[in-house]
Amino acid sequence: MTDTANIPGIMKLARPEIVAMKPYSSARKEAAAEGVLLNANESPRSLVDCAPGEAQLNRYPDPQPGRLLRGLADLYGLPEDHVLVTRGSDEGIDLLTRVFCRAGQDAILQCPPTFGMYRICAQTQGAAVVSIPRDSANDFAMDGEELLRAVSEDPRIRLVFLTSPNNPTGDCVDTDFLLKLMDATHDTAVVVVDEAYAEFCDQPSATELLHSHPNLVVLRTLSKAWASAGLRCGTVLAQPPVIDLLRRIIAPYPLASPVAALAERVLKPDMQVRQKALIAEIRENKGTLLALLSGRALIKDLWPGQANFVLTRTDDAAALLSHCARQRVILRGYPNEPGLENCIRISVGSKQDLAALEQALDAWEEERP
Ligand code: PMP
Repeated sequence: MTDTANIPGIMKLARPEIVAMKPYSSARKEAAAEGVLLNANESPRSLVDCAPGEAQLNRYPDPQPGRLLRGLADLYGLPEDHVLVTRGSDEGIDLLTRVFCRAGQDAILQCPPTFGMYRICAQTQGAAVVSIPRDSANDFAMDGEELLRAVSEDPRIRLVFLTSPNNPTGDCVDTDFLLKLMDATHDTAVVVVDEAYAEFCDQPSATELLHSHPNLVVLRTLSKAWASAGLRCGTVLAQPPVIDLLRRIIAPYPLASPVAALAERVLKPDMQVRQKALIAEIRENKGTLLALLSGRALIKDLWPGQANFVLTRTDDAAALLSHCARQRVILRGYPNEPGLENCIRISVGSKQDLAALEQALDAWEEERP
């Protein structure tokens, strides 16, 4: 059950101009694409041939494609009014920042090292970025006490971004801590749990807490465990007042019709079977990746984490990255990221990819005995 008693609180956290704004009403929002369509200045026919039942390219798509919305609501176990489909979770992060942060006044809170788009979206919006760094000497543990202190003492903080599992450290947010944080911020800030990699870890999703917590937002994506980064399809999950606020500013037609059609296919039951097999394969390959890294002198530290990547520290990341790139194996380095000096993130690829990585690392060790 939605806790309606707290709804005004969330509206108070949003930028007043967004609350006051009369949202743009697109043609397709006002009337379904049925009958003689002379309301959207579209072309009467498409140039490319579209099969019957396929998206007709001359027509604007549904702003929130119905079948896809229902598929995602089922997938994440929530009612449809708790779901907003976006152009990747990148767009969800941007919408949240624009709805809740006033330029020059409000702030987001993040715990770096973490996903870089929280900071980029905040800076684009003119919001301050409060960073509570993780402890790089202690497995990148989050400083929970400092975080709770910041949200209670800094009234600028409107959005707290937590990532579970975190990119690039791979650790999950403790549920008891999340509950404490949501209580501490219930009338001051929205807590965003970015679960881009949730399918790879065993911890229950924070979506289970959405019914009881109006200031919680969960971000999910088809880019990682659903093997569809090319689609650009993400989901914001929250109670309806938050979804309504985001709908006010989202682009009129965020998902192209071929994208929506493909995303629906990805969620069909036979694909769900394939997806389970893919996750099992990635789990197995992660074991292979960890085995091929461990015991090598060049690996000074290794954080396996709970996602489809591992984080390592070497003694000369720049040189190793260029060596691997010369062998056409591309890894992720962090030359300018405090706390991640000489760290390299390695995605769990296919067996073939891992064999290529192994060869590249063997060659490096031979060159530099
Ligand atoms: N959140 C995290 C933690 C990520 O690592 C990424 C992408 N690397 C995203 C969000 C963005 O995902 P999407 O492809 O859905 O925009």
